[in-house]
Amino acid sequence: MARDYYATLGVARDATPEQIKRAYRKLARELHPDVNPDEAAQERFREVTTAYEVLSDPKKRQVVDLGGDPLGNGGGAGGGMGDPFAGFGGLGDIMDAFFGGGAGGGGRGPRSRVQPGSDALLRLELTLEECASGVNRDITVDTAVLCDSCDGGGSRAGSAPSTCDTCGGRGEVQSVQRSFLGQVMTSRPCPVCRGFGEVITDPCQQCGGDGRVRARRTITVKIPAGVGDGMRVRLAGEGEVGPGGGPAGDLFVEVEELPHERFTRDGADLHCTVELPMTAAALGTVLTLETLDGGQEELTIEPGTQPGTEHVLTGRGLPKLRSNGKVSGHGDLHVHLDVVVPMRLDDAQSDLLRQLAALRGEEQPEPTVTANGNGSRHGLFSRFRSFGHR
Ligand SMILES: [Zn+2]
Ligand SMILES: [Zn+2]
Repeated sequence: MARDYYATLGVARDATPEQIKRAYRKLARELHPDVNPDEAAQERFREVTTAYEVLSDPKKRQVVDLGGDPLGNGGGAGGGMGDPFAGFGGLGDIMDAFFGGGAGGGGRGPRSRVQPGSDALLRLELTLEECASGVNRDITVDTAVLCDSCDGGGSRAGSAPSTCDTCGGRGEVQSVQRSFLGQVMTSRPCPVCRGFGEVITDPCQQCGGDGRVRARRTITVKIPAGVGDGMRVRLAGEGEVGPGGGPAGDLFVEVEELPHERFTRDGADLHCTVELPMTAAALGTVLTLETLDGGQEELTIEPGTQPGTEHVLTGRGLPKLRSNGKVSGHGDLHVHLDVVVPMRLDDAQSDLLRQLAALRGEEQPEPTVTANGNGSRHGLFSRFRSFGHR
């Protein structure tokens, strides 16, 4: 189930932080999208980067070493939009993660009952306007909080855990197996205390000995201006409290940007298409365009404007959000002009156009054929059209 971040980076499980960093740098140099645009390489680059982010964080690495996955169970990929608890592993999942494999530890004394809490991820749908302006949102999360009755200890008030009789407090039991090589001594986590070396004899009634309880909390998330689809806002310490009252994980709020009906987005730049009647494109006009923030921009259309003409309104795009969380400057608004040829003409209109054609000597036009005369314009247009919202 859990991804093998060590294998992804190609380092040993006991690699030093320096070795991990070196391995990542080496892979990143080969796989970075600037160097290697191949799609498989980019996918691998994302995996490698995720593995590095996990293993370079001591808290997350500890979770990995305990057999868990700090990024949750597949990141809640199955949870649909609008599910406020998507990607939120239940208590049972976390217990499984810690008790399931038993691979970690390696049999060196009892393990601590206190474990770091897991991170949680939830998705937040925002309109393009909200992404541009930033927003404060109250979100409700089902989470695990410290049990206030036992303060995380797990024992009923006035009682304390006792040393496990089965393993004598070592947290592991040994058994001797005979084989043709002779006697082989194996050790495994003590099944009675589950490796803790002590047993809660009189569990806290509120949490049943886990040290934490489920609770629904409402948290106000401050989303900065300029966020985009897939960006995560980290709320340190707002994730689940760990077993035994361990330090809480982080809560990540991932932005899901809703498509806008008039604007598409490319980073901090906005794009839109304005359809002009053929006559307006030929004669010129002044248009009023409503920008994303509701402002009005006057757009002068020169006589003889061609399809595919682009006007750039500098600074009328989205705020540029830097990695330090500060905004510096704005992107631009690109207005692409499309010229619409009338589909249906009545008799009077047809007559007028025929007169115009006659005046221009265009009644029987010679076709002007070029290999790529309009190539750049059309190229620009199709490029613009292919901007997905990311
Ligand atoms: Zn309790
Ligand atoms: Zn035991």
